[in-house]
Amino acid sequence: MRERTAAPVGDIIYYDPGKPVEELERELGIEGAVKLASNENPLGPSPRAMEAVRRAMSGVHRYPDGSGYYLKGALARHHGLSRGHFVLGNGTNEVLELLAHAFLDPGDEVVLAECAFVVFSIVAQLSRARRVIVPLRGLTHDLGAMAERVTERTKLVFVANPNNPTGTAVGREEVERFLARVPERALVVFDEAYWHYVSRPDFPDTLAYLRERRNIVVTRTFSKAYGLAGLRVGYGVMDPEVAGYLNRVREPFNVNALALVAAEAALEDVEHVERSVRLNREGKEYLYRALDSLEVPFVPTEGNFLLVEVGDGRATFEALLRRGVIVRPMGGYGLPRHVRVTIGLPEGNRRFIEALQAIREGG
Ligand SMILES: *Cc1c(COP(=O)(O)O)cnc(C)c1O
Repeated sequence: MRERTAAPVGDIIYYDPGKPVEELERELGIEGAVKLASNENPLGPSPRAMEAVRRAMSGVHRYPDGSGYYLKGALARHHGLSRGHFVLGNGTNEVLELLAHAFLDPGDEVVLAECAFVVFSIVAQLSRARRVIVPLRGLTHDLGAMAERVTERTKLVFVANPNNPTGTAVGREEVERFLARVPERALVVFDEAYWHYVSRPDFPDTLAYLRERRNIVVTRTFSKAYGLAGLRVGYGVMDPEVAGYLNRVREPFNVNALALVAAEAALEDVEHVERSVRLNREGKEYLYRALDSLEVPFVPTEGNFLLVEVGDGRATFEALLRRGVIVRPMGGYGLPRHVRVTIGLPEGNRRFIEALQAIREGG
């Protein structure tokens, strides 16, 4: 038998997506589990997106529009930029991967924060780039320290703002000081998946920087506030020359036909986004109050999820699971004392709190 080895690939961090709810219910012999594990929109997809998908169904024998002409047109109007500024991806995840394909050679350096979104690490490793991992400061990206680690070999710098899983964000002043220190040859990627949920007033308008600088990429997703995680569609906004490189390494039909029409409809469904953001704010306020009264510490969030310091994260995750509440343990992020909980519908949030309380009372 011939040995099969995939040496460097075997070392790549594995993204663990968790099991489907139905499978967990079967394993644990429970019903009606509530999933607060993947930061999905608890209100579901935009109704206008669902209608667009229904209408487009009869056309799925055709290949999708490979250039994403209409969606890019809608995005260009939405952001006041041109079609050439946009690259569409099978989720933001693919846009991040395209950046790595296009710009990283083995041995190049990628600067990222410890405890940042795990996909940054994965795409760097796929390209055999060297990861320069900068510790967080107070669970927030330390942009000053990150700027210090940029060398002539640095090709990409990743900043998730707000960050997942910490829920923290960096402000305008810090970002501008940081950008002034990073040379043009390094691309700075701001991953703004949770942008709609941000409440801090000094959140930077990174798209505006694109008018003066060519080394900025902003990624946004349809997976969170727009409620389309299952369709897989996200986008990057960048200098048209940078976009041209990404489009060269992109698979021609990377975003499927239903995702394209759903995203276009969701973008225009302002009401659904507003409702989602409002629900998130109310859920957040409820959880803050409830956790305060249980005397359980948490990290104030700018996203649709909350990092909660429960003590033994793994044990609490399992105990919550047995009570039908699915959250994320954070050991893989080096936060063994925390779990991450997605802010859900009022009923789901209440079940999380009640289960947590019962566990802490030794129930
Ligand atoms: C959820 C999330 C995304 C979205 O990824 P998709 O591939 O678009 O689903 C991107 N970045 C971060 C930090 C996230 O948490």
